[in-house]
Amino acid sequence: MTSFADVSVLVTGGTRGIGRAIVGAFASAGAKVTFTGTNDAAATEAAAASGAPDRCHFVKADVSSADGCQAAVDAAVAFGGGLDVVVNNAGITRDQLLLRMSEEEWDRVQDVNLKGAFLTTKAAARRLMKSSRGRLINITSVVGLTGNAGQANYAASKAGLIGFTKSVAKELAGRGVTANAVAPGFIETDMTADLPAGASEGLMKLIPLARMGTAADVAEVVLFLASEGAGYVTGQVIPVDGGMVM
Ligand code: NAD
Repeated sequence: MTSFADVSVLVTGGTRGIGRAIVGAFASAGAKVTFTGTNDAAATEAAAASGAPDRCHFVKADVSSADGCQAAVDAAVAFGGGLDVVVNNAGITRDQLLLRMSEEEWDRVQDVNLKGAFLTTKAAARRLMKSSRGRLINITSVVGLTGNAGQANYAASKAGLIGFTKSVAKELAGRGVTANAVAPGFIETDMTADLPAGASEGLMKLIPLARMGTAADVAEVVLFLASEGAGYVTGQVIPVDGGMVM
């Protein structure tokens, strides 16, 4: 396993699911991990589950607020002695068919999934440029590549995140910062727990590896992109989807 000793990491939305696995993977590998979320109790559980609670630091912050994102970056710099890796993971769904989708359902999803990544990245960019190995990793989704009925708001936010990632990759390459996106497919978390009956069986037929992914499957790829070995990879979208999209 690559060592992340002395590496300072910020993960948004780290209290459960994929974010929690990413926090745990970095902390187990020796990093100092600051993570955000909106739920204190879940944060305590996430830090305990990381296996290295002393290397985890929680900041209650909503990614759709510029002040919250700045506070998270400041806390990561203070806790980790700088900032090397940012993982924009916080995300929500508000699924609805287009004809029934409210403006609020559209706006909230863009505010958290897309604007949240912009605000966090903007607040962190100068710090990443100062790092000897600045890494930005955005958690998008395969539906940002393919679209999905009932998820026009979510798919648009995730497709936007891909364009954002590639633009930042081009802007910050000259400063030694890489920016990549990870596109999970169908991963077993709270987000996918309440799919309508029959939907999982239908989705399973679309996955060549014939199983749902785990949060750990996604975390492993995030750690690779943050490692020194991935220093020549930038502007890419890496699906972690059991072969759903190829
Ligand atoms: P989850 O609902 O289990 O966890 C989401 C996390 O984001 C939680 O920690 C929550 O507290 C945090 N969060 C939500 N709104 C926030 C806000 N406004 N400010 C700060 N934190 C906030 O979801 P998950 O399945 O772990 O998804 C994590 C990421 O992976 C999301 O970006 C999601 O879109 C993406 N993704 C998930 C799947 C999947 O199948 N589960 C597939 C593709 C992409």
